[in-house]
Formats: sequence, C-alpha cells, structure tokens
Amino acid sequence: MRFFLDQHGCAKNQVDGELLVGILYSRGWAKTVEPETADLIIVNSCGFIEPAKKESLDAVLTARAAYPKAKIVLAGCLAERYADDLAEGLVEADAFFGNGDLSRLPEILDSLFPSNSPASRPVLVPEQQGVCSGARPELLSFPRSAYVKITEGCDNHCSFCAIPLIRGALRSRTIHEIVEECASLVSNGVYELNLIGQDLAAYGCGSADSVDSVDEADEADKSSARANPDFAGLSPLARLLQKISTLQGDFRVRLLYIHPDHFSPDILPIMIADTRFLPYFDIPFQSGDADIIQAMNRKGKPEDYLQMISDIRTAFADANSPYGTVALRTTFLVGFPGETDEAFERTARFLAELRSTWSGAFVWSREEDTRAYDMKKRVPKKTAQMRLDTLKEIQIRITPEELHFFVGRTVEVLVEELIPDPEADTRLALGRAWFQAPEVDGSVVLQFEDSQCGIDGNPIVPGSVVSAVVMAVNGVDVEAVVR
Ligand code: SF4
Repeated sequence: MRFFLDQHGCAKNQVDGELLVGILYSRGWAKTVEPETADLIIVNSCGFIEPAKKESLDAVLTARAAYPKAKIVLAGCLAERYADDLAEGLVEADAFFGNGDLSRLPEILDSLFPSNSPASRPVLVPEQQGVCSGARPELLSFPRSAYVKITEGCDNHCSFCAIPLIRGALRSRTIHEIVEECASLVSNGVYELNLIGQDLAAYGCGSADSVDSVDEADEADKSSARANPDFAGLSPLARLLQKISTLQGDFRVRLLYIHPDHFSPDILPIMIADTRFLPYFDIPFQSGDADIIQAMNRKGKPEDYLQMISDIRTAFADANSPYGTVALRTTFLVGFPGETDEAFERTARFLAELRSTWSGAFVWSREEDTRAYDMKKRVPKKTAQMRLDTLKEIQIRITPEELHFFVGRTVEVLVEELIPDPEADTRLALGRAWFQAPEVDGSVVLQFEDSQCGIDGNPIVPGSVVSAVVMAVNGVDVEAVVR
C-alpha cells in the first residue's frame, strides 16, 4: 500500500509529518511522491491563520478532484482545531486525525482500510499530552539538516495566537531524550540540528511540566542535576545545551523561536564556549510599540528588547567569537487592533534600530477564540497591507547591508542542491551558511570546480559541507567560491 504525504505549515508540523512517515513505514506502507499512485493521501495541515487554513482546505479539495480513488486523511492543526465541524462539511476527506498523539494513526488506517468490514469515516482527536516523538526514518528537510522538537504547546497565550488552542499547554521532552535524539541524528550524518518549539526559552517551564521533569531520565539523573554545580541554577534550556555540548562530532546547533520575554542569558556562555552552537537568534518581537506589545499579552518593552539584542551582540563580540557577529531573525505582526499610525511608526523605527539580519512580517488574522478576536479599533486591510510593505522595504534595505559583513570572509556552507548548467565552465550549487536558517532566509550561491571537494574530502553533493569565500552580496543571497 502506498501513501503520499502533503506537508503544510511550520517546522513543528514538519516533524509531525516525519513521525507519521515513520509510523506508516513501521506498518509496511511505502511512500510515493506521485499522488496519483497513492492509496492514501495525508494532508498534514496548518490551522494557524486564515491563509494557511485555506491552503490546507484547498489541498484536500484538489486531491479529491484529482484522485477520486485515494483515501484522504486531513491531519495536522486544521484537523486538530476543527475536526468536528469539518467532519460535517468537508465530505471530500475520508478521515480527520488530530495531532495530540500521532502513535494512534493505525486506528485511522484500520478504519479506512479494514480487512473484513466496510470502511468508516473516522474522526480521531486524541488529547494533547506529552510531546510526540519516535522514529523519523525519512527527514523532509534538505540533506544533513534536521529539526528537533523539544517542546509542544504554549502557555504564553499571545492575544492574537491560536496555537495554545490547537497544541495545548506547554510540555517539554526530557534532556536525556533530546540529547539521545541529537546523538542518533548526528551518528546518521546530520550536520545541522535546528532546535524548535513554540517558545524554546520556556523549555522545562511549561504548565504541563513538573519541576525538574526535564532532568529525569531516572532519579539518579535528577539528584545529580541538582547536585551538579555546573547545572545548579541554570535554566532548563541552558542545562539542555550544556548536555548537547557533551556530544562528540562535527555538527551545528541552531535555536529557533525564542520568546523575547523569556530569553535566558545563561545560554550565552554555553553557546560561546562551544562554537558548534550557532550565534543565530530567532526572536519574534511582533511589534515595536509598547501599548501594542501589551495588547498582544506580552510583557516586554521595546527599549528592553533592543538592550537584550545589544547584550547578545556584545557577549559574542567580547568573547571574540570566531563567527565575528550574531545573526538575528525576527517577526512582526501589523494591523493589530488599536495599531495607530504613530504606533506603527514606532515599530518601523524599532526595526530600523534593531537591524535584524532577517525578518518576516504578517498582517494580523482575526482568529476566533483568541483574545484579540473581539478587540475594537480594527485596522483597515489596505492600511495593514501598506504597513506590511513598509516593514518589508526596511528589511530589504538592512539585510544586504548586514550580509556585507561576510564579504571576503570564509564560511562553511551546507550544500542543499546542485544547479545543473551544462554550459557553465564552473559548477553551481545552492546552500546555506550559519547565518541562514532553513526555508526562511536567503541562500549562498556557490561556484566550484569539478575537482574541488567538501571539507570531508569527498566530491561536492547535496549534504556536503564546503569551505567558501564570500565574494558578493546579491539582495538577500550571497555569492561564494569554494576554496
Ligand atoms: S509564543 Fe505566542 S505567538 Fe508563539 S505560539 Fe505561543 S502564544 Fe503563539
């Protein structure tokens, strides 16, 4: 039996997709990249904001129209959030599977492909508990890059966000479990480990976590954690990084999604001491206006956020980090209820002063059951769109200026794909350097000779790590030559 996975949404949902693949493989299913040959199509959906919901719904409708014989399962956050409503209205789907406990997928399969009874139309939305984990025999990222989910759910309840409604309260995997997964990924050749969660900074501090629960592999671990002076007093995230730092091997670790209000500076000395931790910080500030930040149910102040980033930059500069600088990614939400022209001006000035290497911006989406849903003083869509364009223009100006820092410098580049060009004298490839996260930042356009190799001495292929000199900046990308 063959299945086709139609993956949508964020990196956290991608890990779920990889887990679903693992479960299907363990049940003897084969994966196909041709949906027309599939017996089963899983739309692993996103249910975060309107455009994403529409994209996932369209995927089901398109699949039904194109592949009438296939069984279609709507999985992921859209199913988690609206299973009962959709079970009534979305007749194109044959099953609805929430993401609270992915290990229960076989129940869906047995209902859809029963051996000796008529198929039913299952709706299964297990309770959100624990953090789904397990075998991921096939990673959906480019070669040698992997996401490692360390938490699930979120306790922050930002007033615009539906994630806590979908994924539930924050709960964390144990340090032991995460380090084991990192070790296994590295031993299978993974070079880039991207730690993810809704809010990495809240790791081990979730309302669904018990005290020190992240330290427990067993009682001994717990007491040794308490007794270990290196550990005592460290934040759970710092303790996790400390443990990852004990792993052998040539790999790199990137931290994605750190809520600014919970940033714990005690991770910095650990990251500086072990250069396998990339000085790449993804910290979504959402706004540069104090009143809007507060209306978003966030605690920080713009000036404190700017100071925090300045402190991070200073910490790496003072330590003479071999990376020479820090890369910063952030996110903004424009058109939030009550956002006046003056408030937006403050956000635009905040971005200009922050000088993030990368940023994404989105127009506020009115999500039911979130606190902002009923807020007054809504911003006209046209105005919100103009503000979005303004922030993008500011970032498009800043990024190349920040990337200029790397011109003339040698960086390691993880090759993602080769660009076939039989006419070209030299070979071309696309890759990413440490200051570029997967999927969301720019790329490195690499030039190399056939005779050249990766740092492992092997021919250059996707997954190779090469040493390259940055020659130029081209918009949000850099051009580099393998040396
Ligand atoms: S930190 Fe805020 S925006 Fe992010 S997932 Fe949690 S509630 Fe949503």
